[in-house]
Amino acid sequence: MFERRYLPVFVVLLVAALVTVVGLWAADKGRHYSQSALGGAVASDGNETRVVEWKLVTTWPKNLPGLGSAGENFARYVGEMSNGRLQVTVFGAGEIVPAFEVFDAVSQGVAQVGHGASYYWKGKIPASVFFTAVPFGMTAQEMNGWLHYGGGLELWQELYEPYGVVPFAGGSTGVQMAGWFNRELTSAEDLRGLKMRIPGLAGEVFDAAGGTAVRISGGEVYTSMQTGVIDAVEWVGPYNDRTLGLNEVAKFYYFPGWHEPGAMLEFTVNANALAELPEDLKAIVKYAARAANQDMLDEFTARNNESLRSLLAGGTQLRRLPDDVLALLYEKSEIALEQLIEGDQMAAKIADSYRAFFRDVRAYHEISERAYLNARDKVLPPVLQGQD
Ligand code: CA
Repeated sequence: MFERRYLPVFVVLLVAALVTVVGLWAADKGRHYSQSALGGAVASDGNETRVVEWKLVTTWPKNLPGLGSAGENFARYVGEMSNGRLQVTVFGAGEIVPAFEVFDAVSQGVAQVGHGASYYWKGKIPASVFFTAVPFGMTAQEMNGWLHYGGGLELWQELYEPYGVVPFAGGSTGVQMAGWFNRELTSAEDLRGLKMRIPGLAGEVFDAAGGTAVRISGGEVYTSMQTGVIDAVEWVGPYNDRTLGLNEVAKFYYFPGWHEPGAMLEFTVNANALAELPEDLKAIVKYAARAANQDMLDEFTARNNESLRSLLAGGTQLRRLPDDVLALLYEKSEIALEQLIEGDQMAAKIADSYRAFFRDVRAYHEISERAYLNARDKVLPPVLQGQD
């Protein structure tokens, strides 16, 4: 028979036993961790619960909404889906590496993930421009179709493979604005001598059309406009342009975004870091990127309207690019594309795939997306009457 006077002793022994068991478990768990070559903690055997720590570097100023939220979303999705087993810390441009060194940082394993735009690497990888934007090319919806169901992503992976980098679609802005100008454009002649921040293939097009393209990261565009280093800047659209305060440094806001009709951002993952993950975490990385990709388009779709209203109320002057400007830019775009393909086998291979998909998707969109928008405009009056 258990005697009541032994009860306190029994409780103390029970607690001591529990403490010992938990302590041994924690010590054992600790022994399974080691530092990987990439700086994240990884387990030394396959069956234990383990925590992997990754760094995500971006080309965006820290805490930039819109473009910048993709990295934050990816980190959150990965953390939630893996129940904390894969932890991603996000760094803005300049915190670990400058904006234009994100690709190299991921390639060299300084960070395990990057978020940015593929056309920033066109000096190193000319064909990378196809995966951000082709002037007068595909929209966000069409790009997503090509990448995920038309062979585009496989080509993108092939392009980055020599650098030990695995790309994923990292969000689309939808059709961008043509940009902010400190003077009005009445004809193609007005492009002459104009200095504009405009990256990618469009930068070459702008040069060929008589202007001068300048390469500047997001963190510097405001000051560059303010100090007159540039006369014009394209960034994204109303939502993200307002967050950079571009309406304070230029009066004229031009559309449409001929140069980035569905600009696609990218997640870049260090191939070795990805290969080290167990299969379920690999899948989580892939699907977290896919979710963050779609989320960006959803957010821009929701927020651009409100931001545009606010910009117009604040005195921004909305203007449509003159037809002869668009015609000249198209003509130069075709030449720039041919020059890119010439002598670059990979660019030619990607261009073949892009163009074939584009032709087919345009055919159906003539009788679906565009036919519907036209039909809608016939029965509903335009909202921005007189603005264009
Ligand atoms: Ca842009």
